[in-house]
Amino acid sequence: MQLQFVPLNYTIWNSRKGGAANIFSAKTQVKAETSMQPVLLLIRYGEIALKGKNRPFFENRLLRNIEESLKGLEPFQVSFRRGRYYVKIDEENLYAAQRRLRQVFGIVSISPVFPVKLNLEEICRQALQLLKNSYKPGMTFKIVTRRANKNFPYPSPEVNNLAGTYLLKSNLELKVDVHNPEIVINIEIREKEAYLYSQIIPGPGGLPVGVTGKGLLLLSGGIDSPVAGWMALKRGIELEALHFHSPPFTGDNALHKVEDLCQLLAAYGGNITLHLAPFTEIQKEIRLRCPEPMLITLMRRVMLRVAERLATARKLPVIFTGDSLGQVASQTLENLAVINEVVSLPVLRPLIGLDKEEIVNTARRIESYPISIRPFDDCCTLFIPRHPVTRPSAEALRRAEKKLPLEELIASCLDNIETKQIEALR
Ligand code: ATP
Ligand code: MG
Repeated sequence: MQLQFVPLNYTIWNSRKGGAANIFSAKTQVKAETSMQPVLLLIRYGEIALKGKNRPFFENRLLRNIEESLKGLEPFQVSFRRGRYYVKIDEENLYAAQRRLRQVFGIVSISPVFPVKLNLEEICRQALQLLKNSYKPGMTFKIVTRRANKNFPYPSPEVNNLAGTYLLKSNLELKVDVHNPEIVINIEIREKEAYLYSQIIPGPGGLPVGVTGKGLLLLSGGIDSPVAGWMALKRGIELEALHFHSPPFTGDNALHKVEDLCQLLAAYGGNITLHLAPFTEIQKEIRLRCPEPMLITLMRRVMLRVAERLATARKLPVIFTGDSLGQVASQTLENLAVINEVVSLPVLRPLIGLDKEEIVNTARRIESYPISIRPFDDCCTLFIPRHPVTRPSAEALRRAEKKLPLEELIASCLDNIETKQIEALR
């Protein structure tokens, strides 16, 4: 139903001070209530605003990632105006869209928006409805108006005051608090309509996946490496993952676990190419021919060599692992140094300075934790030495490796890699 509303003018505005703004009496004027479903999501980004000349590149990538994350929720439309994205989507998909967008790196916050005609009465009425959505008696509020459309006859402070007065004259028990309000009603006056919103849902922050480059994640089935992968994605790295498995010692359940971890990471970073590399032969040979305390360090050195060759073939210039300094014997500074020694690609370890508790907290927050703690053996847990070396001698490791058919082992491992595309589970 259309309301006939007396157009406002400055006289009426000024009369507010005298308390005579009866035109805003919600009780007398409101004859119909508009429906209160948002059909738009307003998306704000943060850090990418700082990227100078590269800005369009960042913005385009974020646009692509937003569209990608919404696949399956068609029809939708993503547009970009004045440094913000707007997603138009069917009402029934709105909640699912919000949930997905909360996993898109680069997004700082999301607001469900209520578009309203460019008519002051409609705006006031919608502001009241919006407030009613989270009303409790005695609630404090503030109205913040941004007038992008300078043809709209009321400057922002006037809209604030008129809409504020309208709300105060409603039958709700409300107070204005400009400093610390319980609810902020935002009104954006745009070219064709006004946008109202009050809710600001935090996004994950970070940079859009893909803007900083690509990398290969060494993904075990443990708690740490998925978190390391998530942190790489957060800084804009597009990932492929490499997992070493040791059939028949490790079973299908261990592989499902890794695939599920990839599905989870894919919800944050788009589809992930997962490489499954057979490690049984390598482990057997190392165990047979090398001193026991060195087993883990030697295994890591072979893993990295395989990873480097795969990364080079896939044009991935950097390797990520889930090591954290001092967490286990193979993660002493000395071990990390001799493990790095065998490759020339950079090996980045996003968790290097985090305590286990901090890593676990992140794993819980991103929901990798329940997958990671499924009790299926990883290839490395099968051959744990009783007294692993913590201060390895690079020379002794090289001597031990001379006893291995290293080249053949690596070549055979690479030849037998199985590659899968893992899509996000929505
Ligand atoms: P995670 O929880 O990630 O398994 P962790 O604390 O158990 O880590 P390690 O088992 O020493 O530590 O592994 C260190 C890192 O080596 C892992 O974070 C991961 O990046 C890599 N890694 C270990 N095992 C594998 C594997 N089977 N496949 C691929 N990468 C692995
Ligand atoms: Mg592990």
